[in-house]
Amino acid sequence: MGERPDITVVGAGIIGCAVAYELGRRGADVRVIDRRNVGCGATQASAGVLAPFIEADHPGPLRALGVRSLELYDEFVADVVADSGDDVPYERSGTLEVATDETALSRLERARQGLVSAGVDCRLLGRAEAREAEPHLGAAAWGALLVPSQGFVGAVALTAALCRAGVRHGVTFLTSRTARRVSVGDGGIEIETTRGPVTSDAVVLAAGSWAGRVVVDGEAPLPIRPVRGQLLRLMWPGAPLARVIWSPRCYAVPWRDGSVLVGATVEEVGFDERATVAGVTTLLDAVRDLLPATRDAGFDEVRVGLRPGTPDDLPALGWSRAVPNLVHATGHYRNGILLAPITARLVADLVLDGREDPLLEAVAPGRFNGA
Ligand SMILES: Cc1cc2nc3c(=O)[nH]c(=O)nc-3n(C[C@H](O)[C@H](O)[C@H](O)COP(=O)(O)OP(=O)(O)OC[C@H]3O[C@@H](n4cnc5c(N)ncnc54)[C@H](O)[C@@H]3O)c2cc1C
Repeated sequence: MGERPDITVVGAGIIGCAVAYELGRRGADVRVIDRRNVGCGATQASAGVLAPFIEADHPGPLRALGVRSLELYDEFVADVVADSGDDVPYERSGTLEVATDETALSRLERARQGLVSAGVDCRLLGRAEAREAEPHLGAAAWGALLVPSQGFVGAVALTAALCRAGVRHGVTFLTSRTARRVSVGDGGIEIETTRGPVTSDAVVLAAGSWAGRVVVDGEAPLPIRPVRGQLLRLMWPGAPLARVIWSPRCYAVPWRDGSVLVGATVEEVGFDERATVAGVTTLLDAVRDLLPATRDAGFDEVRVGLRPGTPDDLPALGWSRAVPNLVHATGHYRNGILLAPITARLVADLVLDGREDPLLEAVAPGRFNGA
């Protein structure tokens, strides 16, 4: 690739936007194409929780990626805010993972021991202490695990800021354009789109749940499946929650504007992006048991997104085996917001410097179907 490589990113969700921003600020000439508009896929529905120690309850590749990404988050948000001029809600006020019976409390105690031995600051709270930490907790709470380093970010605001910051680094966005096929062309890597071909030195495929629908010449489709998530936005009626509250049936994320996001359903229903009565009532029942004050909350909206799932719940990140200079960056499932900074860094290192971080080994797209 030349001095200023010309790179096309397919997909303008958090992953595509983060990758484009990173490539742009490192000097590449970047365009992003999306079949809809920026951030209209799974990203707009996300709660933005940054919790690697909850999402990956044991050491392994997902935990390693999540921890590295969380470490990058302060600097990532500061850079994006500085480059975009936007305000991005971002808090590292901790998470309170609630146990609702004795078995769950024992599981949290084992989790605490594992985290402490890994050097993570955390504390197991009994029933009274948990209520002191969060007075809104209902009688169902038996205790809770407090992890102060975790937190949340405004996923929609962050994606918009990444887009604006990218534009300041010369990134262009071509929307309402669907990528159909990627192949090796005469002048580089060719993408056949609904509005004609696009040729570039390299391509990053970040099409989320739809990644397997883009044909890559010589490669079996990636086994990415959509996993529907419904999420509610309520207007909180009283003194604000201090931090993210997590429980087996739902979680709640408190915003400074007085709203609370309540998530999320996990549904295998294909490419169906509808909100449903069953989804909404399941979440409302769960949050009323966890935080009884929500009985008086205002109901603002329901959001729906399709998480890009993989057979082993790990992302698919790395070179295509069939098309040179094509990188896959998808399959982030429940953790795309958490994993955006590390994904952007790993992909930019790979494409611009040919550097392959050891973290990429476990998430190589080639582990599926010889892709
Ligand atoms: C309810 C819910 C709650 C969540 N909560 C959290 C959370 O708390 N923390 C967390 O870290 N993660 C969370 N997630 C997961 C997170 O939202 C996803 O992992 C992340 O948004 C995936 O980002 P993405 O850019 O890969 O996909 P998407 O945001 O879906 O973006 C993919 C983009 O590609 C475009 N596209 C698709 N096909 C084509 C094509 N052929 N040509 C051109 N463009 C195309 C789409 O239009 C879309 O804009 C949640 C998800 C849901 C649904």
